[in-house]
Amino acid sequence: MSERDWTADTVAALRSHVDGVAPVRSLPSPYFTVDIRAVDESGFPAGIKYRAVRDLFARDVVSGAITEGTSLVEASGSATALAAAHFARMLKLPLTVVLPARTSPAQLARLEAYGAVCRKAERPAAMYEEARVLAEETGAHYLDYLGRAADAVDWRGNGLAVALAADDPQWIVVGVGSGVTSTTVARHLRHVGNRTTRVAVVDAENSAYFPGWAAGVTDYGTGTPSKIPGIGRPRMEPGFHGSLVDMVIPVPDGASVAAMRWCREASGVAVGPSTGANLWGVWELARIMRRDGVRGRITTVFADAGEQYADTFHDPSWVAERGFEVEPYAAKIAGLYAP
Ligand SMILES: *Cc1c(COP(=O)(O)O)cnc(C)c1O
Repeated sequence: MSERDWTADTVAALRSHVDGVAPVRSLPSPYFTVDIRAVDESGFPAGIKYRAVRDLFARDVVSGAITEGTSLVEASGSATALAAAHFARMLKLPLTVVLPARTSPAQLARLEAYGAVCRKAERPAAMYEEARVLAEETGAHYLDYLGRAADAVDWRGNGLAVALAADDPQWIVVGVGSGVTSTTVARHLRHVGNRTTRVAVVDAENSAYFPGWAAGVTDYGTGTPSKIPGIGRPRMEPGFHGSLVDMVIPVPDGASVAAMRWCREASGVAVGPSTGANLWGVWELARIMRRDGVRGRITTVFADAGEQYADTFHDPSWVAERGFEVEPYAAKIAGLYAP
């Protein structure tokens, strides 16, 4: 097949995964003056990473960095790896994933089922460097989601950003891991000339984003990993642009778990703990809106599906063993919704 044919077919295949089909869910609000909605990305393979990783692939295909048979390398043990494995299989490209040694057997099995080769990093801190060196030595292409995705994702017509910005909410609340989501949403709002909707990001315990943002710096590091999959990082990643977000809300890990449980009961959708953090952020902002007499809407995201956490975050004994303090936050939520 000629290179132009392969590229045309591949871009068409990536595009055929239509954007904008995520359902929008209405959630019960503690205040009748504040409407709460969520764009539900949990139905996509790899949740909220799906569209962004697809955009990264599409960009590399049109720019010639990925051609027929290109070997790929990515460094990630989480949803980014799953999404990369999904698209690598779709495009019939070999993928090696460099991941943390502590990656669960279930996650390894999921990646291997997609045909990805998993390679445990010798040291977690050096995972990204190992991937870069591996790609260099083998002539492979390093996808580098953390380093590159924020600028590969198209913010103009981005399906998630369009859905979040619909009906001009007062606030949009998203989590921050790579920073890609918040950066894309903030750029989209500016691109469409929105003058009022503000962007809040929720951060996990141990993460660098909240302290770094509060101090007004861009290179803060804690060196400690987050316990909430998808959000919180030991260092501020290049995809995060603090100047584009209006607020960073630190969420206790126990609150994320309590809100995740509430979500399953209130919406019928089982989600992961980063979605719980989103909801906790929504409630904090709803309280501020009510205090200030502001009516309107807050829109957030269901970032990934809960099923994959059946043996972990959705298992009360696992949560208790890990020392998450959930009850005080569950009581607060119950109080918030008490008639
Ligand atoms: C990636 C991810 C996030 C954070 O989004 P970023 O765009 O990386 O900042 C939140 N929740 C889940 C489940 C994720 O996988």
